[in-house]
Amino acid sequence: MIMDDVQQVAQLYSDVTARCPVCDAGPQMTVDGDEYLTSQVDHLLEHDGCRLLQVGQETSHGPNGERWQRTSAVVAIPAS
Ligand SMILES: [Zn+2]
Repeated sequence: MIMDDVQQVAQLYSDVTARCPVCDAGPQMTVDGDEYLTSQVDHLLEHDGCRLLQVGQETSHGPNGERWQRTSAVVAIPAS
């Protein structure tokens, strides 16, 4: 993978709201976490040169031992 033109890598999660690292747009609020993540990724990919590098599932455990699942995505943001 050629990463020479990549200035920044954005890590996005289905359970973490964040502003767009390129244009500072506020997060699109949706009820479903995966839907929220998809809208964040779709928005980022609208910016010139942004590329989706990876999508994955993460599992962690809550305070009562319950399983928490979240989706993560990594988007490369090119140097401007
Ligand atoms: Zn943006």
